[in-house]
Amino acid sequence: MTEQTKVPASAPSDSLLRRWTGPQTSDLVLSPGRFGLGRVPLRLEPDATTGMVCGFCATGCGLQVHLRDGEALNLSGDPDYPVNLGMACPKGWEALAPLRSPDRAVTPLLRNPATGQMEPVSWVRALDEFTVRMKTVQAAHGPHSIAFLSTGQICTEEMALLGMLFKFGMGGLHGDSNTRQCMATAHVAYKQSLGFDAPPYTYADFEQSDVLVFVGANPCIAHPILWQRVLRNPHRPEILVLDPRRTETAMNATQHLALRPKSDLTLLYGIAAALVARGAVDRDFVEAYTTGFDGFEAFLGAFTPERACSESGITREAFDRAVDTIARGRRVSFWWTMGVNQGHESTRTAQALIDLALMTGSFGRPGTGANSITGQCNAMGSRLYSNVTSLPAGRDFRNAEHRAEVSRLLGIPGDRIPDEPSLAYDQILEGIEKGDIRGLWVIATNTAHSWIEQDRFRRLVGKLDFLVVQDLYASTDTARLAHLVLPAAGWGEKDGTLINSERRIGLVKRVLRAPGEALADFHIFRLVAEAWGCGGLFREWTDPEAAFGILQRLSRGTPCDIAGIRGYRHLDECGGIQWPFPETAAAGTSDPVRERRLFEDGRFFTPDGRARFLYEEPRGVPEPADAEYPFILLTGRGTSAQWHTNTRTEKSAVLRSLYPAEVYCEIHPDDAARLRVETGTRLRIRSRRASIEAQAFVTPTVQPGQVFLPMHYVEVNRLTRSTFDPHSRQPSYKHCAVHVGRAAG
Ligand code: SF4
Repeated sequence: MTEQTKVPASAPSDSLLRRWTGPQTSDLVLSPGRFGLGRVPLRLEPDATTGMVCGFCATGCGLQVHLRDGEALNLSGDPDYPVNLGMACPKGWEALAPLRSPDRAVTPLLRNPATGQMEPVSWVRALDEFTVRMKTVQAAHGPHSIAFLSTGQICTEEMALLGMLFKFGMGGLHGDSNTRQCMATAHVAYKQSLGFDAPPYTYADFEQSDVLVFVGANPCIAHPILWQRVLRNPHRPEILVLDPRRTETAMNATQHLALRPKSDLTLLYGIAAALVARGAVDRDFVEAYTTGFDGFEAFLGAFTPERACSESGITREAFDRAVDTIARGRRVSFWWTMGVNQGHESTRTAQALIDLALMTGSFGRPGTGANSITGQCNAMGSRLYSNVTSLPAGRDFRNAEHRAEVSRLLGIPGDRIPDEPSLAYDQILEGIEKGDIRGLWVIATNTAHSWIEQDRFRRLVGKLDFLVVQDLYASTDTARLAHLVLPAAGWGEKDGTLINSERRIGLVKRVLRAPGEALADFHIFRLVAEAWGCGGLFREWTDPEAAFGILQRLSRGTPCDIAGIRGYRHLDECGGIQWPFPETAAAGTSDPVRERRLFEDGRFFTPDGRARFLYEEPRGVPEPADAEYPFILLTGRGTSAQWHTNTRTEKSAVLRSLYPAEVYCEIHPDDAARLRVETGTRLRIRSRRASIEAQAFVTPTVQPGQVFLPMHYVEVNRLTRSTFDPHSRQPSYKHCAVHVGRAAG
C-alpha cells in the first residue's frame, strides 16, 4: 500500500504536522510570551544562561545551560540549585553530547518487508502505518492485544499523556515502564507500609544524620552528587555499608558488612531482633504512630545473632558493632537502592529497612528515614502519574470512586477507564509468548539490552505482528528489531518536568533544536491521538505546561498534591519544589519550598494514619551455586560515566574515555589464581541461559566465589535469570549461578 492510497483512520491535521515537523519546527512549536526564558529558549537573548535539571539520574541536579545565538553552547552545575550546589557528575557535564551525536534518528523509518531494510518515510506515512497496523492487531486479537513499554526517562507530562492516550483513547490495557526494573519494589514497599509511595526524605538528611546505613547502594559512583552531600555532613557520622562487594562507598564507610549475596533480609531481621534485645526500641513512637509491632517482635524471636551471622557470613564482632552503632545513633537514616530493589524478596527487604526506621523512631526528624534512592531521572513521575499500574496521583483502577474522580477531572467518559491495572512488564512479555499480545510500542527504553534473560525477549520479538520503537536513535538494540521507528527529541530539546529522589519537581527546557524531523514525545503522542481518531479527548493537552496544569488538578487532595505550584515559572524561581505542595502551602514564604521531609507529624497515609510493620520468612535464592555453576554473578553500575544501556553515554568521547570499551569481569585473586587467569585474560562465563566472553579484572573487591559484571554491556543480561519479587514483580538482576573459565583460544 502506498503513501497516497493508505489513509489513517483519522489523519492528523496538516496544521499540527506543520507546527511540529519540518524546518520551521523550532519557531512554531512554542507559543511565545507565556513563559519567558525556559518556554521559548530559541528566542533567548543570544548569550543568555538558563537553568534546568539533568535528565540522567534521579539525583535531579540543576544545570546552567549557556547559550550562544539562542542555542545551548555548553553547561555547568548550578551553584544555586538546592540539590547539587554547583556540582555535577561526568554525565551531567556531558549531557549535551548525546544530543549532537551524528547517528540521531531524524526521520521516521519503516521496514520494507521485501528487502528487510529500514527506509525513511514521512510522519504522515508513519502515523498511518502505526494506526492501521495497531488497529488491525486489535481487530484480529482483541483490544488488549497491543501493549506499550515505556520509561522513567521522559517528562511527567509526556508519560501521563501516553498512559491516558493508550488506555482511555486507544482502548489498550497493558502498558508498563522500565521503572519496573528499578523502582517497583520501593513503590510497593512504601505503599504497603506507609499507605502511599512516599520517599520521606530531603537531601539535607544526608548532612544531618549521625548514622547512615546504606544497603545495596553505591552512591560514590551511582549517585555521586548525593555522596558529596554525605561528605558535607559535619557530625562525623558512622557510615555502615551492607554490600557483598567492597564498593567505592564501602571503601569510604566506617563499617562494611560484606554479607553473602541476598542474605540481607535475614541480616536485617537479625539486627532488628538484637535492637529489641538491648532495649533500643522507641516504644513511644511505636505506640503512637505504628501498628503491628507486637507481631513483628514475636516474629523476630527466630532471628538470633548466631543465625544472622551464619547465614550472612558476617562476623559476630561486626554484627554487634553495627547493632551498637544503630542503637546509640540519635539521627539514624537507612538508604537503599538497586541492591535491595532487584532481588527475589526485594519488597520484604525494603520493608525490613522501613521496619528498622519505625522501631527506632527514625521518621519525620532531620537526618532520619527509610529512604529509597531513586534510579532514573523521572522514575518518581512514572510511579505517580504514568497511568500504568495505578491511576494518576496514586489512585486505584479497581476503585470505582477513583475512576469516577478521574473521569470527572479529565472529562473522559467513565466507560473508557479500565477497572483493572495493567499486566507487569514480565507478564506483558509472557502475553507475547502466549500470542495474546501482538503489537508492542517501546518508548525510550532498550528492552533488548536491559531485560533480564535478554535472549528470551529477542526471541519473543519474532512473535510480534508489529513492533514500534520511539527513541532518539534508530541504532539501539531494540530499535534495530523494529518494524517502525519514530524519531524522538531528547532532554534539552523539549519542555517538561521531572521528579527526583527527594520528590522535587524540576524543570526541563528546550535549549536545542531537535534534529531533522524528530519530535518531542509529547507531540508524537498528540499526533498519534489525532491519527487514531481520539484527539478530541485530549484537546486540553495543548502543550507540556497545560498538561502540568491537568496533573495539578488530578493531584488536588491526594498525598502528592501539587496544586499550589504556580506554573513552570514558579518551579524555575524556587529551584524546583518538593511534593506535596497544596494550595495552602503556596501562601507561605519561599523557605518551606526549599527542603521538606514527610511525616513530621507522625501521620502516615494509611486509612488509620499508622505505619505498618510488614515482614515474612526469608526464602532461599532461586538459583544457588552448585558444582556445575560454582560462582554467583553480581551485576550493577560500572562507573559514574555510564548510564544503564549506554545508549546516550556512549555518544560522548569524554565519557567513553572514562570506562573500558569492552565488558570486563571482576574476579577475586584467589579464584583467579586457581583458574590461572590474570587481569586481561579472556574469560568465558556461562549460565544456564547463555555464554559470553569478558576480560578478567582481578580485584579483591569481590569475594571468593563471586564475580561482578557491569550492566552497561549488552552481553551481561544474556546470563541473568528470569526471577521476580512476587509483590513488586521487579526482576532479580543481582543473583544467578555461573561457571567461569578461560575462554578457548
Ligand atoms: Fe545528572 Fe545524576 Fe550526574 Fe546529577 S548525579 S549530574 S542528575 S547524572
